[in-house]
Amino acid sequence: MLRGFDTFRKRITLLSGGLLLSLSLVLIASFYQLTSTRLSQASGESLVSLSQSVSNMLTANLLEREREIFLLSQRSSLFKSQNLNELQEAIDQIKSSYKNYAWIGFADANGVVLASGDGMLAGADVSQRPWFIHGSKGPFVSDVHKALLLENLLPKPKDGTPIRFVDFSAPVIGENGELKGVVVTHADWVWVKEVLESSLTEASKRRAIDIFIIDKDHNILYPDNSLNDIKVPEGLPGNSQFKSVTWQDGQKYLTSLVSVTPPKSTNLGWQIVVRQPLSIAMATVNEVHKLLLLFGGLATLFCMFLAYRFASTLSRPLERLALTAQSIEQGNRNATFQDDSKLSEVASLSCSLEKMMSSLLVREQSLMQMNVTLETKVRTRTAELEASNRSLEVIIRKDPLTHSYNRLALDEALLGEYNVAKQTQQTFAVIMADVDYFKKVNDVYGHTVGDTVLKNMAVLFASLVGDKGMVARFGGEEFTVLLPKFSVEEARVIAESLRAALEKEEMSDGLFVTASFGVAIYKEDDSLYEQVLNRADAALYDAKEQGRNRVVVNKAC
Ligand code: GH3
Ligand code: MG
Ligand code: MG
Repeated sequence: MLRGFDTFRKRITLLSGGLLLSLSLVLIASFYQLTSTRLSQASGESLVSLSQSVSNMLTANLLEREREIFLLSQRSSLFKSQNLNELQEAIDQIKSSYKNYAWIGFADANGVVLASGDGMLAGADVSQRPWFIHGSKGPFVSDVHKALLLENLLPKPKDGTPIRFVDFSAPVIGENGELKGVVVTHADWVWVKEVLESSLTEASKRRAIDIFIIDKDHNILYPDNSLNDIKVPEGLPGNSQFKSVTWQDGQKYLTSLVSVTPPKSTNLGWQIVVRQPLSIAMATVNEVHKLLLLFGGLATLFCMFLAYRFASTLSRPLERLALTAQSIEQGNRNATFQDDSKLSEVASLSCSLEKMMSSLLVREQSLMQMNVTLETKVRTRTAELEASNRSLEVIIRKDPLTHSYNRLALDEALLGEYNVAKQTQQTFAVIMADVDYFKKVNDVYGHTVGDTVLKNMAVLFASLVGDKGMVARFGGEEFTVLLPKFSVEEARVIAESLRAALEKEEMSDGLFVTASFGVAIYKEDDSLYEQVLNRADAALYDAKEQGRNRVVVNKAC
């Protein structure tokens, strides 16, 4: 989840952008719905308004015609005098007052035309005409009908449509209430066309608005050329209402309907139907929606941009802190967390990090200093220990009383010489010396003097042997001299020089001692260096046996 959105900036952009986008979509959808409803309503109401306007004009015209015929019927003097010329004059005057009167006439009570416009149909029997039958009983307005008797008498319309009339008739009543006759006007249906065309503006025509007049059986009365082409569909809206209706051409039309208020005399049942293709009626809605989508989209993009800027503003200080931390991790100790962010939390975090960094740097410096000191101490201590070890190495190989080499040092040296001799055929000699009657020295002079004797002996032997060999205290009052590369004769000479020097050396006040010496050398068949020591010891024993203070060379040498 949220793969790829692994930074603070991306997540805030996603979150705020998502919220803004959702909000925009909700607003756009709501506005879309609202404008759709409102604009559809406005389009429909505009059609209803147009229908109403046409209906009002038509009604006004019908009422005017009806009133004219009624007023004519009330002019009883015209009909009372039986003066046809005067009547003819009045009829002609009325006919000339309204150009769409196709014919005006007066028929007597028997239905015989006594006077008429232009004298047409004079003397004709109209007793079976609906206008006469209904008009003899009261004011009457007929439905639209084709001309019958007058068709051949009137000029034909240029567009070839049949001549159609709406009849307005009224009874002429005598002084005694008897029927004198019926006056009638045939209004040419053309006047409806004029009424409608005056209602239909150029703008309405461009918007493909059609106006229909239909009768109560939903037959189209107007326009004439639609009689055979168009049929009124089922499901028309109610009076003064509009709705979307599919007409016979399969196209949807926004359709409104308004009933024509009938003249009091006759219930015509006419209705004004106005239609407009839904696509054109809704064109404004679609235009508004396009603009809405365009500006909504732009607003959304702008919001997304603001969301990104907002995310950047929030995340930039944190990114700077992260970069600083990274820089410090890579060794840059001059990096600083100080940040001029206006966000108090970030400023506080920067300040804390800066303090923490300073504290850590101080501790790091301190640790480095301690480390240097510690390393110096370790080096010093190591050197001291090494020196101490070297001293110990020396000490453990020295005899504490005489300070000459001890048995350990002697054994190591003997082994070394033995190994060299084994590899190089080079010989070495050993002299064993033992103080004669030393017990007596201790007994007579005391152990301290005995110790002094031993110490003086060691110094004497070492000075005489020098770097020719090694003098070691073998134990008690016995000393051993190791002479590398010495032959037995050379060793015997050394032993003799030691013996002679010792007997002349005054060890303490008037105290002189002697010692016996045994000499032996390494032999090729020796498998242990101790064998050389044993032969020297055997020679020493012989020297003791032979009377002491002498040098004896081992017989095997
Ligand atoms: P000889 O060798 O001639 O046969 O007689 P000796 O008296 O020397 O015989 P022995 O080897 O038995 O005696 C050695 C004596 O040396 C015994 C001991 O008290 C003495 N001695 C050994 N080590 C020391 C020492 O460190 N200091 C003193 N003062 N005396 C020691
Ligand atoms: Mg001894
Ligand atoms: Mg002795």
